[in-house]
Amino acid sequence: MTTSKNDNIKKDNELSPELYHIAREKGTEAPFSGKYWDHHEKGMYQCAVCGTELFSSDTKFDSGTGWPSFSEPMNTEHVILKEDNGHGMRRTEVLCKKCGAHLGHVFPDGPRERGGNRYCINSTCLLFKGKK
Ligand SMILES: [Zn+2]
Repeated sequence: MTTSKNDNIKKDNELSPELYHIAREKGTEAPFSGKYWDHHEKGMYQCAVCGTELFSSDTKFDSGTGWPSFSEPMNTEHVILKEDNGHGMRRTEVLCKKCGAHLGHVFPDGPRERGGNRYCINSTCLLFKGKK
């Protein structure tokens, strides 16, 4: 674990309008618009709000949806999964455990050989750190 002081969490007025909309108002970026859906470098995707390590490039796969897709979180202790019945759909919301940012949703249509889950995450909520 790296240091996890709460003062690493960006305040709402420090977030870009896009990040605020998605992380705090549970918005969704347009598919194929984000910076990471077609990003294939090795490394770690962190929370754009607080820096928590959320997803490893090792679990990223091409889902064809236009959003970064992962088969599992880097550490299940770093995320919260929450039932979301909004917009007339039953979905499972994915939130950052540390800062509460809305990240995206998890769907049960991921690659079966990797466990069958697809974490569909907004690029805007992620910050990529390449392996050195
Ligand atoms: Zn966070």
